[in-house]
Amino acid sequence: MDLIESLKPIVKRLKRFKYLFLFAGISIVLTISALYLFPDSVDSMGASVNKSEEDIKLQAFPIVKPTMKYGFAVDTFQVYEGQIQNGDFLGNILQRYHIDYPSIEKLAENAKSVFKVNNFRVGKNYMVLAKDSTQRADYFIYEPSVYNYIVFDLNKLEAKKVEHEIEYETEIKGGMIESSLWAAITGNGMSYEVASKMEDALQWSIDFHHIQKGDEFKLVYDQEFIKGEEAGVGMIKAALYKTNGQEYHAIYFDHENNEIAGYYDLEGRPMKSGFLKSPVKYSRISSYYNLNRFHPILKRRRPHYGTDYAAPYGTPILAVGNGVITKAGYTKGNGNYVKIKHDDTYSTQYLHMQKFAATTSVGAHVKQGQVIGYVGSTGLATGPHVCFRFWKNDRQVNHLNMNFPPPAPLPKENLDEFFKVRDQYLELLKQAEVKSIEKEVVTEVENSEKKDLQGP
Ligand SMILES: [Zn+2]
Repeated sequence: MDLIESLKPIVKRLKRFKYLFLFAGISIVLTISALYLFPDSVDSMGASVNKSEEDIKLQAFPIVKPTMKYGFAVDTFQVYEGQIQNGDFLGNILQRYHIDYPSIEKLAENAKSVFKVNNFRVGKNYMVLAKDSTQRADYFIYEPSVYNYIVFDLNKLEAKKVEHEIEYETEIKGGMIESSLWAAITGNGMSYEVASKMEDALQWSIDFHHIQKGDEFKLVYDQEFIKGEEAGVGMIKAALYKTNGQEYHAIYFDHENNEIAGYYDLEGRPMKSGFLKSPVKYSRISSYYNLNRFHPILKRRRPHYGTDYAAPYGTPILAVGNGVITKAGYTKGNGNYVKIKHDDTYSTQYLHMQKFAATTSVGAHVKQGQVIGYVGSTGLATGPHVCFRFWKNDRQVNHLNMNFPPPAPLPKENLDEFFKVRDQYLELLKQAEVKSIEKEVVTEVENSEKKDLQGP
């Protein structure tokens, strides 16, 4: 510790106490630099060095670790990193690193069940590791998404998929609808993924085709992080939506018993026991149930017994409730259509499908939210849409006007636990700030106009 010894007289001369810390810091840095610069002297320094190493650990200085990437100590390899370019395929990349064609073919074949090598996508990252740059490389690593990567072992000619570790952080955010849900979500610093997950959480109580300016929402959700960077959005744990002076909540609750995992209202009533508010996400209602409608193709008055949801060709159509498929066929008017019987009272029907889902057939059981087909314009249809029909006791009714009896709450043995969870989430929801971001943008414009007015 001769360095510190030599600094002592200087320290003594300093009158102000705070300099002591500064010099203690500098002396530690100097000691460590000395150890780095003259590593050979380390052995000869003996016991005192051990003591200083201990000091370093105690003061939480970084310990020298190999640089790890994709689970490899990359310091021990020649490292080549790149991104898949247009026209790149496994062969032309690996040939640059001395891998012969028979090996590449064998590797592609062996890797098939893990990753099909013709699925490389332009712009995705890859890395090649070689122990000796003049010899064949040892590993090729490809990262198809932020969630995982594929390690191709170029010696054993096999591949494995490795999942990145995901960390979660609770986010508490809110917003107010100005023009659209999407704008409010992204305007408040959330990813667009949050919009769709929020729709999932509230799909039983909010009809997202009819959201209004001034509606407010608050959310508690999991933000995923991979290696410290934001990845995707995890689960929405609690949601509050305020419209027309009414508040709607969705609280996520699960238990060892996975059967009860799902969203509940504040009274602990399961939300999924109702029907989804619409069979297509991201759609708009293009025509309402109307007993006096003038039919656009037939050119005469004909009642419209359904609600039309317009959406692009191929958009998935979801079963609005659990049930059994009673019809899956084609008629000239309906085009490809499916009818589902939910119970003795209710059935639903979905018309004009482009095609059915692979699992759709008469007699098949479907779950709420399951994809049963895809939006099309088969039958009497002017454009891509689903004509959604709701049957009650064999009569077609307007589902938008339906009020269903509330389902029974959670069983007593879970209810107290649910209330505790609910109250914690309600506290968190209170912390969410509701701001109309679009309004703030307008304010900025106003300010800049004012500035202009004050100018010459
Ligand atoms: Zn229709």
